[in-house]
Amino acid sequence: TEKPLDKLKKRNAFTKDGKKIGINANISSPKEVNLIKNYMIDGIGLYRTEYLYIDSYSLPTEDEQFNVYKNILSSMNNKPVVIRTLDIGGDKQVPYLDNNDSSERNPFLGNRSIRFSLSKTIIFRTQIRALLRASIYGNLSIMFPMISELNEWYKVKKIINEEKRKLDDGGIAYKNPKLGIMVEVPSVAIMADQFAKNVDFMSIGTNDLIQYVMAADRGNPTVAALDNPLNPALLRMLERVVNVANAYKMDISLCGEMACNRYALPILIGMGFKNLSMNINSTLDVKALLSLLDYSLMQKMSEEIIKNACTVKDVIKIEQRFIKI
Ligand code: PEP
Ligand code: MG
Repeated sequence: TEKPLDKLKKRNAFTKDGKKIGINANISSPKEVNLIKNYMIDGIGLYRTEYLYIDSYSLPTEDEQFNVYKNILSSMNNKPVVIRTLDIGGDKQVPYLDNNDSSERNPFLGNRSIRFSLSKTIIFRTQIRALLRASIYGNLSIMFPMISELNEWYKVKKIINEEKRKLDDGGIAYKNPKLGIMVEVPSVAIMADQFAKNVDFMSIGTNDLIQYVMAADRGNPTVAALDNPLNPALLRMLERVVNVANAYKMDISLCGEMACNRYALPILIGMGFKNLSMNINSTLDVKALLSLLDYSLMQKMSEEIIKNACTVKDVIKIEQRFIKI
């Protein structure tokens, strides 16, 4: 029997006043591709490749990775697929890799994610080659996690260009995938205009961005009250980034859990986010809520929140004047 929300599976997402919102899936395993096929979504907004490494006893080879990426791209029929390079460290450890340095007092501030990839370029280059080779099978974008300064971006680009030259020399085919970054470190939000001139797209990872803006560990229940997506400081940062991106006509989306939060979603829409990515199970609730929201009203609401809210309570109070939540 069809549940009430099931009819939304086969529809795109629109606000009440007809503005289309791109809904993409976050996946952590290639197996999820079969599941998301039952849903009308615009693409894959985040494939977390670290689970390829975490769920294995040794480093996945270039060919193993190539096959996984190729299968995902082919089965998505040319819809956009954003594949994120290895994002380990912090909460995600790979037992056979020596990033788990017990001398790190603050692993979330340590050698994680792109920092690890740039310190172990053999592993990084293998992944880049697998991705480039797979790029001919669909619509691939490659996303880099935890970028915190432009210099890292220059290093990433240099490595990609070097691997392209090697593929050229070997006569191996590839397309030129779009290259973009996660915005999950405050320094990138501060430098958003400079990044906008240098990258093809940005996706905001609020799970991490919140913890770094608020200096509150995302996994520590004692400080969970600070780790709140409705904190006005975070909202101001998001508004700044989306405004910069829109001014540069830069493709911007948001792929943190915040997109599925029923208080946060109306604010994000009002700020001007037109593309979101989330776990597939949340897409129906999000589509349902979007269909009740009036975009122009949400714009006014977001403006007022950004201008006047001092606390999470203030944010909710303003919101409740505009919509029943
Ligand atoms: C994020 O940080 O918001 C994000 C989407 O990445 P992850 O949850 O994998 O760290
Ligand atoms: Mg993250």
